[in-house]
Amino acid sequence: MSDSQDLKNFTENALVEWLDQYGAAPYRAGQILRWIYQRGAGSFSQMTDLSKDFRRSLSEQLVISNLNTEQVQASEDGSRKYLFRLKDGHHVESVLIPERDHWTLCISSQVGCAMGCAFCLTGRMGWVRNLEPSEIVNQVCAVRNDLSNPSALTNIVFMGMGEPLANYSSVIQAIRTLVGPNGLQFSSRRVTLSTAGLASKLDDLGQAVTVNLAVSLNAADNETRNKLMPINRTYPIEMLLSACRRFPLPSRRMITFEYVLIAGVNDRPADAEHLAKLLRPLRAKINLIPFNPYEGCDFEKPSENAILTFQKVLMDRHYTAIVRHSKGVDIGAACGQLGSRA
Ligand code: SF4
Repeated sequence: MSDSQDLKNFTENALVEWLDQYGAAPYRAGQILRWIYQRGAGSFSQMTDLSKDFRRSLSEQLVISNLNTEQVQASEDGSRKYLFRLKDGHHVESVLIPERDHWTLCISSQVGCAMGCAFCLTGRMGWVRNLEPSEIVNQVCAVRNDLSNPSALTNIVFMGMGEPLANYSSVIQAIRTLVGPNGLQFSSRRVTLSTAGLASKLDDLGQAVTVNLAVSLNAADNETRNKLMPINRTYPIEMLLSACRRFPLPSRRMITFEYVLIAGVNDRPADAEHLAKLLRPLRAKINLIPFNPYEGCDFEKPSENAILTFQKVLMDRHYTAIVRHSKGVDIGAACGQLGSRA
């Protein structure tokens, strides 16, 4: 049925209410959600602990969606880029990244992105549309199904296409499904949301879910950040960092600040000193990501010496500062390079 609702777009509460019209007890909602997220059921006929009549009524009115995997590209470094086709023909990408003893999946929250960060290929596409909660969660379901050991996929990062806080309600719902007891059961310690700095939404986010926060900072002064990230004109650094200070962090957790190092733009030792001062009031660690040039971009990769000097300035000031070379450069899966074909 074309007007069927997607079961994966229901919150558990909404499903309880929806089922009530059939006189089904509230516990049935959790039972159905566990079938699809924990036992991988792709149809109601598999839900053998529901009566046949009930299954038939469900299948007449609900669909259990999946994403169509159009392409999987494998990188020399072990990462894999998945290209998914959405029901309206648009595409999104997810990147599976190998760690020492587990996988991390970088997922998308929008088709394209409206933030227009100067160093980002996705930003050049502009914003096309928000993803539905089901389309966010289905990236995880599809990749998990593709793994020989699905339980090795333990970490999820919202760092793919799009600004997650600009698709707030769908992303919150997707996070609840990722970590929920009747959902995919990821540990909330292992789910990270990365934002370009939509400061006005950070308070809401901290109230709504427990999640790791990463902030794409990329500059230590407003003049440079205005040039790199137009969002900074609305939420300048001071406003962003005061929202970060208010963000409720569980004990011993820190906010990760991502800093794409670009030659001659933000990679001087003075920038590192400024950054160290700026982050002093926060529980912060810093990921330094050397910029990966792509065709038609105006920026260059920093020298190895500039990267190491920048890192040393931060480490001398007692920060954890890790240089993270992007994975999947050879398959266009590096940070900020997703989505050349939405
Ligand atoms: S870096 Fe992130 S927020 Fe900025 S344009 Fe790219 S996808 Fe959007």
